Amino acid sequence: MSEAIESAVVQELKHKTEDLIALRRDLHAHPELGYQEHRTAALIAERLRAAGLEVTEGVAGTGVVALLRGSARGKTVLVRADMDALPIVEESTQSYRSQNQGVMHACGHDGHVAIAILVAETLAAARAHVRGNVKFVFQPAEESIGGAEPMIQSGVLENPHVDLAVALHLWNELPVGTVGVRAGPIFAGADAFTITLTGRGGHGAMPHQAVDAIAIAGQVLVSIQTLVSREVSPFQPAVVTVGTIQGGTAFNIIAPIVQMQGTIRTFDQSVRDQLVERLTILTSGIAAGMRGQSELSVTMSCPAVVNDADVCEIIRQAAIATIGPENVGDMHPSTGADDMSYFLQHVPGCYFVVGSANPERGLGKPHHHPQFDIDESALWVGAAVLARSTLRLLSG
Ligand SMILES: [Zn+2]
Ligand SMILES: [Zn+2]
Repeated sequence: MSEAIESAVVQELKHKTEDLIALRRDLHAHPELGYQEHRTAALIAERLRAAGLEVTEGVAGTGVVALLRGSARGKTVLVRADMDALPIVEESTQSYRSQNQGVMHACGHDGHVAIAILVAETLAAARAHVRGNVKFVFQPAEESIGGAEPMIQSGVLENPHVDLAVALHLWNELPVGTVGVRAGPIFAGADAFTITLTGRGGHGAMPHQAVDAIAIAGQVLVSIQTLVSREVSPFQPAVVTVGTIQGGTAFNIIAPIVQMQGTIRTFDQSVRDQLVERLTILTSGIAAGMRGQSELSVTMSCPAVVNDADVCEIIRQAAIATIGPENVGDMHPSTGADDMSYFLQHVPGCYFVVGSANPERGLGKPHHHPQFDIDESALWVGAAVLARSTLRLLSG
């Protein structure tokens, strides 16, 4: 019985492929930055209200929650889609290129929204056969690591209580027609940090009368490179990157202050804590040894995305049933970050990736590239695997 329903839903989604692509193109042409997803949110709300879901708008800003109540009591599965675009000038000649200058769907979130809408509509039409609830959560501001936590704080995991969570990311690191699933940590935890190094200004010709913050910054920058190479276990992946250094005003003035910004990426909380602690001690020690001072602040933090093994196995089997075992593989962990981690801190779930690259058609640019685009046949694969997975999670 349930297999028949699955097949019917997947077939129905196949029939709706054109609608799915058209919807993705409409969203692609109208990208909106984090917490400004007003048009996107209104479109989601209108379509899912029309499909008979219970829609709540304005959740944590521009978030939308659409609840599908099945015909019998059961579990509640949360399906999450992120909605935001990036501040990138799109380089594209496609008819569906961005009409919002300087803003671009360069990560695939347009596809995530389109997939979630079509899956919601299709499952709603099959409501008589759905046991339990599906809570579709459209989240703002993933790119700025912002939307998931406030949505949880505003109660999206309750009423009804969410038992399991699932989400997908279109993925240009895998060829179209494939799916990647992996248990355990798959996206890194991310911290952003700012180091402020303070010396004492003076004349560039008389450095002995001053404390040169640029010289301190040079030593700090070199020493930071030893944190991962000399202090973290080689069996624990970690990244420390300094992305900005700012200081100084003229060629003949000793800079009194330098600011450096960077990011730490880790898959294990204890490694993260170790790096933050060592970064603090190292920078303050170097600064003190050179007669200056340092201050480290961690300005943004997002935990690693950790998938549940049992849920991953259900998703893997659903993917195999949809596209065949030869097209379903292990996802390589990514040092990118994603705030899906907050949902998975509270409920077991799986964040999986759907291959969307087709280099032969010029569709293989990395995420966040100004020429990023996907092979749109990935949309049906994503929708079909997501719908089948959701049905299996409800019945399991
Ligand atoms: Zn992104
Ligand atoms: Zn993304």
